[in-house]
Amino acid sequence: MTAENTSSSVTRVVQCPSCSKPVVWGAAATYKPFCSDRCRLLDLGAWASEKYAIPAATPPDLDDFDTAKTD
Ligand SMILES: [Zn+2]
Repeated sequence: MTAENTSSSVTRVVQCPSCSKPVVWGAAATYKPFCSDRCRLLDLGAWASEKYAIPAATPPDLDDFDTAKTD
């Protein structure tokens, strides 16, 4: 519980998950943690394609669950 450097704004630099470029983490970083909108979209695209690659399996016990709640 140390209260040091509470008022100083520490510049934090993170790596863009998409291109590994250093990104200054701050109010000006609009696309954080990405360096740009392009990288953000690229990552989102990768995510989407990964999602679509996984076959959507239907829950097998949905009917079971419904009949289970006998009141
Ligand atoms: Zn980037």
